[in-house]
Amino acid sequence: MNKQNVISIKNLNKIYFKNTSKSINALNNLNLEVKEGEIFGLLGPNGAGKSTFINILAGTTIKSSGMVNVWGFDLDKNPRQVKASIGIVPQEINVDPFFTPEKLLELQAGLYGIKKEDRITNTILKLVSLEKQSKSYSRSLSGGMKRRLLVAKALVHQPPIIILDEPTAGVDVELRHNLWENVKLLNRQGVTIILTTHYLIEAEKMCNRIGILNNGNLVALDSTKNLLKRILTKKVTFFVNSQVKIKENLFDSLNIFENSSAKLVISYEKSKMNISKLISYINSQNIQIMDISTDDGDLEDVFVRLTKN
Ligand code: ADP
Repeated sequence: MNKQNVISIKNLNKIYFKNTSKSINALNNLNLEVKEGEIFGLLGPNGAGKSTFINILAGTTIKSSGMVNVWGFDLDKNPRQVKASIGIVPQEINVDPFFTPEKLLELQAGLYGIKKEDRITNTILKLVSLEKQSKSYSRSLSGGMKRRLLVAKALVHQPPIIILDEPTAGVDVELRHNLWENVKLLNRQGVTIILTTHYLIEAEKMCNRIGILNNGNLVALDSTKNLLKRILTKKVTFFVNSQVKIKENLFDSLNIFENSSAKLVISYEKSKMNISKLISYINSQNIQIMDISTDDGDLEDVFVRLTKN
């Protein structure tokens, strides 16, 4: 095993309804590596293929082709070892309300066939800050605590890799931070983390590297720092006296939000385009610019742009 890569994906494809008129390419020749000790974010709009990817790793969806290696184990040859190397924290909160966190972890350990003397229930409860609630009914836990309990469940078999599927969807801001801290703590203890999210701010705060999926294609893969630098956008509104005709692809990175006889709203990447060229272009059509307002593009814009076909 290459020590650096704990997950290595080569030419991974998933086609649902293969060879039918309904066939869907959920993953297209995905190539991806996750390095030991990193927090890797997998981003993408709904339908991008994130769940398909996670389900393939979890062994609940069968890939169509390609190679998946987890912790040195080939998914085709050693599916059980692959499964044992990953802990998955699901999106849905599905904890039995009448069990205590302690009991739930013990049951989960039993499912994995972990002997009583090898269980680390209390350590895990401490790690997710639920030691005080270890003997309370799960139904009495807050939403955030239930999420942490799901993280705890995924840790029972001590996997070196944890996958969190939309960990903070529907969790309020304060609890979100709390959960992030817990995940970071886990990471500091050496666990490699993969998370899917569509909260860009979450990815920005948490992840060392980010991959962006769209329609089954990896449209970006870079360190969070580089990605943020690369995608710095500016949004500009021109108030005009007639509609501007803009040839497609004339300006690098230009994205048009609105183009009417009164207004042209665009965004562009600061590193790729110079606004003065666009102004000259508008002027050359004898269109008057009455006013201009600018606004630094936010991450949301960037995401929309990167995932635009
Ligand atoms: P995401 O998790 O990013 O929202 P998914 O992996 O769920 O994306 O979906 C990717 C594509 O595959 C979508 O077009 C979706 O409709 C399709 N898809 C997902 N699961 C199934 C399934 N079990 N059967 C058929 N099509 C599916």
